[in-house]
Amino acid sequence: MGFKSDFTEKLVKSKNLYDKALDALPGGVSSPVRAVKPFPFYMKFAKGSKIYDVDGNEYIDCCMAYGPLILGHSHPMIKEAIKEQLEKGWLYGIPIELEVEYANLIRKLYPSIEMLRFVNSGSEATMAAIRLARGFTGRKKIVKVEGSFHGAHDAVLIKAGSGATTHGIPNSAGVPEEFVANTLQVPYNDAQALAELLEKNPDVACFILEPVMGNSGLILPEKSYLKEIRKITSENDVLLIFDEIITGFRLAPGGAQEYFGVEADLTTLGKIAGGGLPCGIFGGRKEIMERIAPSGDVYQAGTFSGNPLTLSAGYAAVSFIVKEKIHDYLERITNYVKENVNDFVSSKAMNVSVDSIASMFCIYFGNKPSNYSEALKLNSTLFIEFFWKLLEKGVFFPPSQYETCFISYSHSEEDSERIMEAVTECLKELL
Ligand SMILES: *Cc1c(COP(=O)(O)O)cnc(C)c1O
Repeated sequence: MGFKSDFTEKLVKSKNLYDKALDALPGGVSSPVRAVKPFPFYMKFAKGSKIYDVDGNEYIDCCMAYGPLILGHSHPMIKEAIKEQLEKGWLYGIPIELEVEYANLIRKLYPSIEMLRFVNSGSEATMAAIRLARGFTGRKKIVKVEGSFHGAHDAVLIKAGSGATTHGIPNSAGVPEEFVANTLQVPYNDAQALAELLEKNPDVACFILEPVMGNSGLILPEKSYLKEIRKITSENDVLLIFDEIITGFRLAPGGAQEYFGVEADLTTLGKIAGGGLPCGIFGGRKEIMERIAPSGDVYQAGTFSGNPLTLSAGYAAVSFIVKEKIHDYLERITNYVKENVNDFVSSKAMNVSVDSIASMFCIYFGNKPSNYSEALKLNSTLFIEFFWKLLEKGVFFPPSQYETCFISYSHSEEDSERIMEAVTECLKELL
């Protein structure tokens, strides 16, 4: 509140639109994290790494719609795939060949996914995966990580990251305590805490986590954490669910599982998987997935599931990622930003740093966190001041200390230089 930036005074059309939006939409937006204070800018169009607002400003986008756009905005090859499908109709409610083809491509990239189902959002995917884990094991409890975000459904809205944390409501109203009585939590990067919790609770169906946390800022797994939790869950006969909705196709074509060499029992995918259209996927071992209706007794269904447009866009995007081997380039661009900002910061002895993995990066105002409670100590007010200064210099970061920045295949070397320069200029002004 009370926050003012000179730049906001130039966003006249955006301000007018937001004033109208506040009357029609709660908080003026369709998803909470977009509601940056004092108001968000409104989009006109986007192409490649650039976005253009209604007041005529151009920005380099480092948010990329919170992850899905790994190839950049309006990628011509994806546009072509969508157009081709549009001509043939965009919703049938009847199976199509592409479902099988795309499923097989994903099975090839993720050996732990023997069977899968397409749904419409990441939230839907994690909701179904958790239900399936409970149905398969016949157990009630689930374990999640503090500060993780798995979408906006009842079972996971406690100590939830992303917009829930940004807006100070990690525990949502409207979720009866009975509904989350079976949701247990552990801190990230603490395998011992998981082992102890499972020892005390023999009735746990699954442990769900983001292998790399991307919704409490970016938090990387310590050296052997993922291998240890794989071992602990196996020993306790608890299903391990990797929520790879951000990391899938992002860390490597085969996601965190390929990157770290750890396999999950169930996996959720989304974001990149839809090529920019709404998408979710859950999949895993055959004996578990066969419990999904109609082959099994765990119910899950959706009118728009596996819709032709999403499948076309998603299949085009993922095929491109595999064929073009884009990950080395993405990492090089990301590392350039990280290393140069860190060099600058260390020369000034500021308590700010950048960390990254593959094409995900984050700037921390405070000590780099290794779990949620440390992330909460970051200076999120200072981050927002930084956010506005950066926007004025033509670079858009997601508007919260608790989100992650993304580099896309459309970001050029020149973009990375401009991002780095804008960030260091802002830091000079701020600190
Ligand atoms: C974005 C996200 C979700 C939710 O996906 P939606 O498509 O927004 O419902 C779930 N899990 C993780 C890790 C995410 O980043």
